[in-house]
Amino acid sequence: ASFGFKEVPRTQKQSLVRGVFDRSARRYDLMNDVMSLGIHRAWKDMTITRANPRPGEVLIDVAGGTGDLARAFVDRAEERRARNGGDPARAVVADINYEMLEAGRKRGEDERLSWACVNAECLPFGDATADCVMIGFGIRNVTDRARALADMHRVLKPGGRFLCLEFSHPTTRALSRVYDAWSFNAIPRLGQLIAKDRDSYQYLVESIRRFPNQDAFKREVEEAGFKNVSVTNFSGGIAALHTGWKI
Ligand code: SAM
Repeated sequence: ASFGFKEVPRTQKQSLVRGVFDRSARRYDLMNDVMSLGIHRAWKDMTITRANPRPGEVLIDVAGGTGDLARAFVDRAEERRARNGGDPARAVVADINYEMLEAGRKRGEDERLSWACVNAECLPFGDATADCVMIGFGIRNVTDRARALADMHRVLKPGGRFLCLEFSHPTTRALSRVYDAWSFNAIPRLGQLIAKDRDSYQYLVESIRRFPNQDAFKREVEEAGFKNVSVTNFSGGIAALHTGWKI
């Protein structure tokens, strides 16, 4: 598939570098598992259901990492194709971290997937390229969110849909109290115990706290030009899915 960008070159140096790539990807997986007690897998599944993938569609999975969401998208479209026919769906996994992309590609070659090492703030794709743009647990790490949101809007076709899955803020006081204890006390300790890396886990917790709440982020999505923006809380707001349309 050609989307008008330079694909990440395929590497020959398999075994030596593989360890580094896998460690980097495993670290992210582990962080998400610790932070969500493994529930992020169910949140991703619900996100794909909402994305409603169809045969022949193009997805850009921004900050896509190892491509979990992209693979799930094209597989879900394939189930539909088996029943109704049509072309395979395709996805570009667009991530700033080359190691993540390499680890993702090594999880299984798939000609429906392309891999692009890019910054979410300046996507190297043409206007109106994608039927769907998704960002999962990535927007929180982007420096200039407004720019990234505007660029995701630009690359969507009119009628296309945007989905953003991110850790968010608990919606009840009772859950907040449990969550505070869990995230401020337990998570940095678990990070130290499991990954010997207290600081990264501390940073993870703080970055989630600093991220705007559901309503504030909804406004940011609207300011980028998306219409009919809606928010779905997962697990009482521990994560939230923001969706919107380009009209
Ligand atoms: N979306 C994947 C998932 O849900 O499994 C990966 C999520 S991982 C927690 C966050 C990803 O965001 C990392 O792969 C990181 O490299 C990527 N990232 C961070 N800042 C980025 C940026 N400015 N542009 C593109 N990707 C970025």
